Amino acid sequence: MLTSWIDGRYLPHRRARVSVDDRAFLFADAVYEVVAVYDGRFIDARLHMERLANSLDGLRIAPPMTSRALSLVARELLRRNRLRHGYLYLQITRGSAPRWHGFPDPPVRATVFMSVTHKPAPGESPARADDVVSMPDERWQRCDLKTTSLLANCLAMQDAIDAGGSSPWLVAEDGTVREGASSNAWIVTRDGVLVTHPLCRNILGGCTRGRILRLARELQLRVEERGFSRDEAGEAAEAFISSSTSFVRPVVSLDGEVIGDGGAGEVSLRLYEAFIDSLRRGDDLTSGLDDNDIRH
Ligand code: PLP
Repeated sequence: MLTSWIDGRYLPHRRARVSVDDRAFLFADAVYEVVAVYDGRFIDARLHMERLANSLDGLRIAPPMTSRALSLVARELLRRNRLRHGYLYLQITRGSAPRWHGFPDPPVRATVFMSVTHKPAPGESPARADDVVSMPDERWQRCDLKTTSLLANCLAMQDAIDAGGSSPWLVAEDGTVREGASSNAWIVTRDGVLVTHPLCRNILGGCTRGRILRLARELQLRVEERGFSRDEAGEAAEAFISSSTSFVRPVVSLDGEVIGDGGAGEVSLRLYEAFIDSLRRGDDLTSGLDDNDIRH
């Protein structure tokens, strides 16, 4: 049985509970992070803490704990669960209060929850590939904040599955591919340029995205952070998605049409290998969870 942590207590996961008055339950009034764990180490922890601070700030939730305290709990959870590979889930909600849309006044104590998931060690090549289906992006206008308000993402995911695919790419009204339902979207053009959407309010700034951009520069790939259309993606040589749970996952078809030669592309595979290699080397430019306090 997995051990989780909620509001100061380590508990068997199935005994972790929140109140029916919790604003995450009532309004999705909460933020979260998913941090990859490789060989017992958190990957890009500082980037995740910075993004968490930004999401809390965006929702005007006062950080309930220092990042040092969060880090101590997170490490203890890894220890108690003997987690070697997998990920940590961390959620902070505005807390419990009688149902009312405005913020509780005075503010109530935030609910803080953490759990872990075990995964097999990542292999030498990606474990699976995606068949992506394009779907209209029907999310709100602050997708840069990592909130638990994910209904539009869930509906798009299910629509993609119902359409015979494995995940959606969310497309703006003007045809620009923004990102996946829980990942960033990438293509490699036929002349070898790696392209992903620029950071803005319409996408989540993925921590994995940041690491891939750095690795791509080390590999001296040509990189463009710009919008690309669904049609350009259909013509691309390669495509892949990135996230803390999938790292670099090849996309082999878009709306039922094969991308490139229908297998994992050469650049995608090089990036996957470089990614895993950087994890093995412990190359974590942004470790140091402790020296970045989310409580300013
Ligand atoms: N975009 C969205 C909408 C996401 O939900 C996620 C991760 O959950 C990502 C991108 C990738 O972010 P990261 O690489 O930090 O996991």
